[in-house]
Amino acid sequence: MGAVGDAVLRIIAANLQAIFHLAVDLLPARATPEFAFSELRRQYHAALILNRLGSSRRKQQRLLAVVNVDLFIPILTHVLGEAQMGGRAAVVSLHRLRERRDGGRVPLETFYDRAIKVAVHEVAHTFDLVHCKDRDCVMMLSTTPPDLDELPMFFCRYCKAFLAESYRRYGVWTVEKP
Ligand SMILES: [Zn+2]
Ligand SMILES: [Zn+2]
Repeated sequence: MGAVGDAVLRIIAANLQAIFHLAVDLLPARATPEFAFSELRRQYHAALILNRLGSSRRKQQRLLAVVNVDLFIPILTHVLGEAQMGGRAAVVSLHRLRERRDGGRVPLETFYDRAIKVAVHEVAHTFDLVHCKDRDCVMMLSTTPPDLDELPMFFCRYCKAFLAESYRRYGVWTVEKP
């Protein structure tokens, strides 16, 4: 939604496909989600984007929006991503993913890694995965972009098993066994 680089979309899609073992389609670009803009906060309300996305008539079982604008939910100053737990929709914001703790910008490669991690994390929420305490797991909660750099792109053993169980429950057809 809105102006998002083609390269980052393709990188996110390829990695989601590899990590979730699910077929991923890149859908046509959509306009910046102005319907979710809050005049008060000068940010975009993540839940409104999820509602709109979740009611899409597209055939895909899960829909992930990638936006460049800054997202919030009412109780937080911002979110890097948001998802419907056990639902259909997830959203990732690239807006803050270039930030370094000292205010500078990270290399493109780090930016891509962060985008993949947020995407994997949010899509996993749609399969009912909750936050994980394992520092070696992508389901650990990150609040700032540099936190993401400490995390792997993958699930710990426990979360991986939970995902496989969710696939069985939802009757998800995988490209290969997760
Ligand atoms: Zn989360
Ligand atoms: Zn985990």
